[in-house]
Amino acid sequence: MSATPAATPDTPVDTDCIFCKIAAGELDVPLVYEDDYVVAFDDISPQAPVHTLIIPKQHVVNLTDKPDPELLGHIFGAVHEVARRKGIDESGYRIVQNNGVDAGQTVFHLHVHVLGGRELMVGMA
Ligand code: AMP
Ligand code: ZN
Repeated sequence: MSATPAATPDTPVDTDCIFCKIAAGELDVPLVYEDDYVVAFDDISPQAPVHTLIIPKQHVVNLTDKPDPELLGHIFGAVHEVARRKGIDESGYRIVQNNGVDAGQTVFHLHVHVLGGRELMVGMA
């Protein structure tokens, strides 16, 4: 059993953060996956046939926020289940995590992109 802290009523949230609102169920966003620590939902502007975001329920800006490594492990642990539910676990998928302005991070709540459903472009930048 992981010691990762579950989201509780005391979990830090940013009331102006769109992803905190999605994680709290305040917006009518269908979830691909949910557990005590993360939710996953489809990107509003998909870059591939499958483009799903995995976010912690806890408000964490990005890796510079030094999130709990166990929480990071939990997020990565959810990737395969999301890929399986989207039917791309066998065909292959890419994960992307934009961290800060130079990386193109536009939503400042930590998230991992899961992309697949077609052959993706070669190259990373
Ligand atoms: P990034 O550029 O890594 O910060 O990615 C942010 C992602 O969030 C972009 O791919 C957006 O299309 C996506 N996004 C922004 N707002 C929403 C929303 N309300 N629901 C789903 N995806 C969103
Ligand atoms: Zn947030």
